Amino acid sequence: MEKRELVVIGAGPAGLTAAIYGRRAGLDVLVLERGIAGGQINTTEEIENWPGVQHATGPELSEMFRSHAEKFKTEFRDAQVSSVEVRDDVKVVVTDKGEIEAEAVILATGAYFRRLGCEGEAEHIGQGVSYCAVCDGAFFEDEEIAVVGGGNTAVEEGEYLTAFASKVYIIHRRDEFRADRAAVERALSNPKIVPVWNTVVEKIEGDGMVENLVLKNIKTGETSNLPVAGVFMFVGQLPHDEPVRGLVEAVKGGWIKTDESMETSVEGLFAAGDVRDKDLRQVVTAASDGAIAAMAASAYINEQVHLRSVLLEPDHVIALFYSSIEREQVALSDVVDGAARAAGKKVALVDGYRNARMVEKLKIPSLPAMVELNSGKTARIKPLTSVADVEEFLK
Ligand SMILES: Cc1cc2nc3c(=O)[nH]c(=O)nc-3n(C[C@H](O)[C@H](O)[C@H](O)COP(=O)(O)OP(=O)(O)OC[C@H]3O[C@@H](n4cnc5c(N)ncnc54)[C@H](O)[C@@H]3O)c2cc1C
Repeated sequence: MEKRELVVIGAGPAGLTAAIYGRRAGLDVLVLERGIAGGQINTTEEIENWPGVQHATGPELSEMFRSHAEKFKTEFRDAQVSSVEVRDDVKVVVTDKGEIEAEAVILATGAYFRRLGCEGEAEHIGQGVSYCAVCDGAFFEDEEIAVVGGGNTAVEEGEYLTAFASKVYIIHRRDEFRADRAAVERALSNPKIVPVWNTVVEKIEGDGMVENLVLKNIKTGETSNLPVAGVFMFVGQLPHDEPVRGLVEAVKGGWIKTDESMETSVEGLFAAGDVRDKDLRQVVTAASDGAIAAMAASAYINEQVHLRSVLLEPDHVIALFYSSIEREQVALSDVVDGAARAAGKKVALVDGYRNARMVEKLKIPSLPAMVELNSGKTARIKPLTSVADVEEFLK
């Protein structure tokens, strides 16, 4: 099977940033992408919040990201990833072009907005139809716009949009919002917000940009026109978590849980960008996640390679596992080192605090502990209570 150091799944802002950082850290990086590099931003004409670039179209920014990753000789492959599996502690990425074994994997598969599905929606995306208030709200200064939805996102984002728009119609198919009470009260007390109850959008019209919505009242069947310059759809956003569904911990809806270094509940498997459980899904936060994930993946790979060569591959090893944050244990490591030299033996010193997963893997009950391994298999473990225990172990 093909073997790689770092496999990045998805070439959006998170994946491409991970590739840049991974390559600059000296890793062998393979990026798998099923579509066009750049991800979601390819579908927008206006990006005004990527620092250093006052204005770019999405495809322009995508191209800059991709060519930046190419400059560092990132390898790209057109491939659809169906799953990531852990087989005997080895991570395997299963694609439509074969299987790849990876030291570390970064899942950067992004997310997508649910479409409303009405006539005129698809052709007006980026031309007045938007799914992201933070991205596009500022383009509607002093204009009348509409929001579709009735949950927390619709109500809160609708209120956010009143900072720009002169009026925000919130179109909802029911006669009350599903959002929590505080959000609803805040929105309804805002004079710029006009709820439109029991109503659905049948058609979005406009020559180029959005100009009008054809609405239908689902109680009376009556149709009407609502002239607006834009419409924001908040009918749901979902992660592309398919490759790791059931493998890693996730919150409701499938958003992947990570720690601060972007590691998921599976060691060596990181998640970055929109696919993650997070508050703000934007290019800048995706890029940040990608950078953090790549550096953490690099540290993980180095640690694994080092530990494998020191602990698991030799025929016979004696090691002291200690905690580098306990002063007494650091002092003990010096004593053990001295005692081993005096006895003419070699003892590998392993910081069990930084390598907690290895401690877990070897089932070491507490630190400090002496461990004897034969070809990676544990022969003896002795938690230490005194220096005499060390001498006894080394006999
Ligand atoms: C219309 C629109 C306008 C936006 N405007 C802005 C803006 O102005 N400013 C801003 O900061 N943000 C904006 N955003 C949000 C921004 O695009 C996202 O936050 C960002 O793209 C997330 O990056 P990502 O790398 O996490 O995921 P994505 O950009 O979604 O990239 C994920 C990539 O993974 C690939 N992929 C998914 N599953 C698989 C698989 N199984 N196998 C292989 N490849 C896979 C996808 O094809 C995709 O290329 C906008 C989003 C949209 C939709």
